[in-house]
Amino acid sequence: MENLTKILPTDDGYDEARIGFQLSHGHRPGLIVDAASIRDVREAVRHAAAHGHGVAVQNTGHGMPIGSDGGVLILTRRMDGVRIDPVARTARIEAGTRWGAVVEAAGEHGLAPLSGSTPHVGAVSYTLGGGIGLLARAYGFAADHLRSVEVVTADGALRTVRPGDDLFWALSGGRGAFGVATAIEVGLVPVAELFGGALYYDAGDVPEVLGTYLEWSRALPDAMTSSVALVPFPDVPGVPEPLRGRHAAHVRIAFTGPAEEGEELVAPLRALPRLVDTLRVLPYTDSATIHNDPPFPMAYHGSHAVLRDLTPTMIRDVLALIGPGSPDPAVMEIRHLGGALSVPADNPVGHRDAAYFFSMISQARLGPVHARFLDVLAPETVGVHLNFLYGENATERNVERAFSPADFARLRELKAVHDPDDLFRYTHRIRPARGQEQE
Ligand SMILES: Cc1cc2nc3c(=O)[nH]c(=O)nc-3n(C[C@H](O)[C@H](O)[C@H](O)COP(=O)(O)OP(=O)(O)OC[C@H]3O[C@@H](n4cnc5c(N)ncnc54)[C@H](O)[C@@H]3O)c2cc1C
Repeated sequence: MENLTKILPTDDGYDEARIGFQLSHGHRPGLIVDAASIRDVREAVRHAAAHGHGVAVQNTGHGMPIGSDGGVLILTRRMDGVRIDPVARTARIEAGTRWGAVVEAAGEHGLAPLSGSTPHVGAVSYTLGGGIGLLARAYGFAADHLRSVEVVTADGALRTVRPGDDLFWALSGGRGAFGVATAIEVGLVPVAELFGGALYYDAGDVPEVLGTYLEWSRALPDAMTSSVALVPFPDVPGVPEPLRGRHAAHVRIAFTGPAEEGEELVAPLRALPRLVDTLRVLPYTDSATIHNDPPFPMAYHGSHAVLRDLTPTMIRDVLALIGPGSPDPAVMEIRHLGGALSVPADNPVGHRDAAYFFSMISQARLGPVHARFLDVLAPETVGVHLNFLYGENATERNVERAFSPADFARLRELKAVHDPDDLFRYTHRIRPARGQEQE
């Protein structure tokens, strides 16, 4: 342990190290290890195991669960290498690498990873949690493109696991409950350019925009991935003038087919009055402009559901709850699923038959409003997606709901094999099969 960078609760820099992107949930570990190498990770895991401490892992802190007080928190942010093999069309991505770096490196070869809406999320955690990205309907979940995982397991050993290995299967969806991934290898896709961007609409048009979007999304080719968000934009400098102080609808488009076909497909959306229209042919390296997620740390609370279907009545009821003019206006987002996301793959990522993803994000806690939001969606809810479980939402019950019952049972069996003492209990927790009754 002497050579490790260790940060204790009494040290300066403890708060800076433990608090990530998400400001509303902070864990208070007994020891933070700021790992710079695989050796550091192995040593930290061995130390935790020897002293009976649980292990938490953090790169950016975008998606941490709550409740790792007292354990050992391993930071991976310094392990941020990425290497592209343009011939094999793969990327080897170290644990602390963010999507932005992978997108840039792959883009130099006309390739793209299965990245998400924002460049500052960690690529490893995202991929091991499933990953519903910008090219999701065209190419499936990010986890479907996983080729190998280098992982430090509960015994402190480093293993490289590949398809066909039980531990690979468990990691490619079950993520941090099985070890600390120090690097992954993923397949890249030949997408250098997209037809895409954003369409923004004013609050008064929101019901019509959402109704049109819902109908429009029902008959699209797999090459079209899209979503729509409702965002109450603050009236502050930095927000583009036409959006400032408005509660706007924001449709996001990423189409991998020919631009002319894209233009034709979006015609019904463009027929409605728009505040801003940025649709164009863009390099994949500019894909972060499609969602334009805020790049600075924030406090937020989220809830979501993965849906078999979405009805106009549900949209109406959600708008009454958190839409423009409601008592508790909040951000809401609908992502269109299906397409390649519904193709079976040999990993535990669940709910491949789902058609929509619906989430709500509020800056204040608003517990009862989140509960009512989920009640509205309940008739069509099939479960949740692990990547969007963070903070108070990352309960064991919700983790279980990310998988089919059979896959969850297999994950618990594998947990009993690879982490019988539940060392990795401060991640999205999956208990060992035989430890069900223990704490
Ligand atoms: C603005 C924003 C946009 C997003 N967009 C998308 C999107 O488009 N699609 C999507 O699918 N998700 C999206 N997400 C969710 C995101 O994928 C998850 O929050 C993801 O877990 C973040 O990874 P991280 O490493 O940045 O965060 P962290 O909080 O550092 O990690 C999250 C959790 O992953 C586990 N973990 C981290 N590193 C490792 C490791 N090396 N080995 C094992 N386990 C590890 C730990 O349990 C950790 O608590 C978004 C989140 C935000 C905040």
